[in-house]
Amino acid sequence: MKNLRQELDQLQQQGLYRRRRVTESAQGSEIIIDGNKVLNFCSNDYLGLANHPDIKQSLIDASKTYGVGSGAAHLINGHNKSHHALEEELAAFVGYPRALLFSTGYMANLGVAQALCGRGDAIFEDRLNHASLLDAGRLSGARLQRYQHCDSQDLEQKLVSREKGEKLVMSDGVFSMDGNIAPTKTLASVCKTHDAWLMIDDAHGLGVLGENGRGTLQTFNLGVNEIPILMGTLGKALGTAGAFVAGTEELIEYLIQKARTYIYTTAMPPAIAEATRTSLKLVQSESWRRQRLKEHVDYFRTGASQLGLHLMDSSTPIQPILVGDSQRAVEMSNKLLQLGILVSAIRPPTVPKDTARLRVTLSAAHSTEQIKRLLDALEQIN
Ligand code: PMP
Repeated sequence: MKNLRQELDQLQQQGLYRRRRVTESAQGSEIIIDGNKVLNFCSNDYLGLANHPDIKQSLIDASKTYGVGSGAAHLINGHNKSHHALEEELAAFVGYPRALLFSTGYMANLGVAQALCGRGDAIFEDRLNHASLLDAGRLSGARLQRYQHCDSQDLEQKLVSREKGEKLVMSDGVFSMDGNIAPTKTLASVCKTHDAWLMIDDAHGLGVLGENGRGTLQTFNLGVNEIPILMGTLGKALGTAGAFVAGTEELIEYLIQKARTYIYTTAMPPAIAEATRTSLKLVQSESWRRQRLKEHVDYFRTGASQLGLHLMDSSTPIQPILVGDSQRAVEMSNKLLQLGILVSAIRPPTVPKDTARLRVTLSAAHSTEQIKRLLDALEQIN
């Protein structure tokens, strides 16, 4: 048996030990955490919808009609009218023939990879993909090959050398720890040439990018013909919980038959689906949220550059400050917390060795004054 205490001590010595803080309030630009009120720069609530009164009201109303638990998996009797309506609305939103709800984004990724690929097939992934995509590749039983970050040529070389079996390329749309956007157009054309599926995980782009919030695909003006598999999560910009996969009629029917993380799990509560329907309306109608977010990104980048901070090449609300050393990143995060500002330190193995960073995430819920407070604090601790 392995010595758990020894491994835990080792993690502590390496500055890699993780602890949970307890949040005692709703999400927002200010939250109560471990009893203290802090300015929040680490949530993925990009549009400030996680605590929106209309969305909460929909949740309450729907729970009165449908109760709380869905009671069963979708293929038993858990597939509620609310789920069905949300799937249709999500498909219309992204402009795809159909969409299928999953209980989490992690499960959506696992489900797609396992349904489409197995032994004898190959999955190709950007080396900085989110852990859920990498796990999806590993657990599918297919051969997993990682290509250089955002490098379509490297991908192409790897695709060329693979003759037999299914080929599935998976990439974050917006890289979750870096904030940059995948070269989706080039990936799409490489995949088409080499007869490979392309799946884009747009957890951090959906709702945020594109004029109507349709995400990475809207930025590049792409659709189901170029990106046959689109995954979006509901727990980030949409402010609720869960995820969906969009694709052709056949793909979705196939996933319903084959994706184990769809088949063998309880459907999300119908009230969450109803809340998400309201959220989806707000995402589309309130484009001022995206506009405001863009202004915040510009304001933060200008200020942080003036302070000489090492920003990464990101135009999205994910604005990491590269620190390098894990201990130093943790120290900086702790100092910010002492000043009443919450920014998480991201360390290996979540990011590559020696690239620990402070991951600042901006939200439409922030005011310019709050971002100025963050910049002042960064100046003070630097
Ligand atoms: N993909 C990406 C890129 C993510 O950042 C996340 C969540 N951090 C997920 C998938 C997983 O989504 P969920 O939280 O709904 O499981």
